[in-house]
Amino acid sequence: MSDLIWFNGKMVPAEQATTSVLSHALHYGSSVFEGVRAYDTPKGPAIFRLTDHIQRLYDSAKIYRMEIPYTLEEITQACKDAVKENGLTNAYLRPFAYLGNVGLGLNPKSHLAEVSVAAMQWGAYLGDESLENGVDVCISSWNRLAPNTMPTAAKAGGNYLSSQLISGEAKRNGYVEGIALDTNGNLSEGAGENLFVIKKGILYTPPTTACILPGLTRDTLMTLAQERGYEVREESIAREALYLADEFFMTGTAAEVVPVGSVDRIKVGNGKRGPITKELQQAYFDLVKGKSEDKHGWLEYINE
Ligand code: PMP
Repeated sequence: MSDLIWFNGKMVPAEQATTSVLSHALHYGSSVFEGVRAYDTPKGPAIFRLTDHIQRLYDSAKIYRMEIPYTLEEITQACKDAVKENGLTNAYLRPFAYLGNVGLGLNPKSHLAEVSVAAMQWGAYLGDESLENGVDVCISSWNRLAPNTMPTAAKAGGNYLSSQLISGEAKRNGYVEGIALDTNGNLSEGAGENLFVIKKGILYTPPTTACILPGLTRDTLMTLAQERGYEVREESIAREALYLADEFFMTGTAAEVVPVGSVDRIKVGNGKRGPITKELQQAYFDLVKGKSEDKHGWLEYINE
């Protein structure tokens, strides 16, 4: 874990970055956060799409009328400092804003957030072998959040009760991850990943109206696929399309690009990582590790 955490404006030893048991966020889920990765590159550690992630943190806060008392530049700098001052090269970062000790009323007078950034070493989220061999997943008995209940475009703490139900059920039943349907019964997303289905060379991914978090890795993969001449369609996908897919992979900052070998114990394709998944996964890792041209300026170096 982090030795040093940036907490409300300064870097402090991790044990000093604490909050009250009466914090609003602990009782009501009123927090917003990001998961960001830094990778070691030939030009030193770089944080992938840092500005886009911190912009999403502000967007999540805006939806909940939460006020972050720092500028975007201050938070991006805090992220770079958290990697540097903890002596990390490959790191997972957790920028976090929450309502602290503002009273236990549902609508506190102050919406001023407390803010922290932790940085830690973290390997492949779904296991080291997952990236090559693929993972076994199931359709969850839990639906994803319904439209106009809790906004899924906000990466808010409370939404992750849904994710915990989905991934916990999957793991207890011997799967690596659970996939949720939306309330119409179409594909939504994994507990912490977006979905891509490949059929006859075309990539399909559920649209934002399927109550997904619009993932930055999803956006990156859509761009990489299009740059390589693949057609990408954002459209509703039926559950059974997973069973009949040629290839199926999931994306997320923590999960990265993970092939899926089976869904509900039905093999996807031949049950192994498919060729398009392999090509796009390689393109992703080459990009984040600075081994290919960074056309979009997505690598943000910590020493700049
Ligand atoms: N959906 C959910 C529910 C998530 O928690 C995540 C991880 N942040 C994603 C999708 C993927 O988003 P991103 O690629 O921006 O990490």
